[in-house]
Amino acid sequence: MSFVFTPPATVSVPVVGTPERFPVHRIYCVGRNYEEHAKEMGFTGREPPFFFLKPADAIVAVEAGQTGTIPYPSLTKNLHHEIELVVAIGTGGKNIKAADAHKHIYGYAVGLDMTRRDLQNEMKKQGRPWCIGKAFEHSAPIGPITPVAQAGDVNNAEIYVQVDGKDRQRSNVSRLIWNIAETIEHLSTAWELQPGDLIYTGTPEGVAAVVSGDTLVGGVAGLGTLSIKVA
Ligand code: MN
Repeated sequence: MSFVFTPPATVSVPVVGTPERFPVHRIYCVGRNYEEHAKEMGFTGREPPFFFLKPADAIVAVEAGQTGTIPYPSLTKNLHHEIELVVAIGTGGKNIKAADAHKHIYGYAVGLDMTRRDLQNEMKKQGRPWCIGKAFEHSAPIGPITPVAQAGDVNNAEIYVQVDGKDRQRSNVSRLIWNIAETIEHLSTAWELQPGDLIYTGTPEGVAAVVSGDTLVGGVAGLGTLSIKVA
């Protein structure tokens, strides 16, 4: 087969303990999945889970021990960090029950859902899609994927991000409103999950702005850290 132009390379993420990489299919994100973050966004807490997507090529994959770089994006004056646990799907499926969700998980990673908050808020106000606030290039930094067998108890893991060495967000994955298994159950009723899908599971409270020159270091206990500099 030939193409009218060279097709883009497959987006992929390094995997801990192997030179093989995880090819990315889709990026799903869960909105307002920690109660204290829902409150800081002006909502009351538990509501049915809802989802948005980022394009696979929003990924900025950072090797272990390295610092990735993202450009400060266009149009915004309020670029926010959202530190998140990312679930990597290894086996697809639809209508997956929470009790079976673990069979579909390949591994976990630390991710940042970078957000042009001013643009997102304007879209919210107008009842328009969030894409311009959420789904831009370089908006999904991610560290290496740790396969399930090597990961700790991620359901009860501390999650945090520091900017230039100062704490911005610090919580625990146990505070997810919809836990990993429940999220997979809900998500797979709406979309058929595929190997290579990534799920950004939501962010705890403390989201705030970064500016050019800032360095973000985020982590989830048992999964290492993710380091990103804003150019
Ligand atoms: Mn998020």
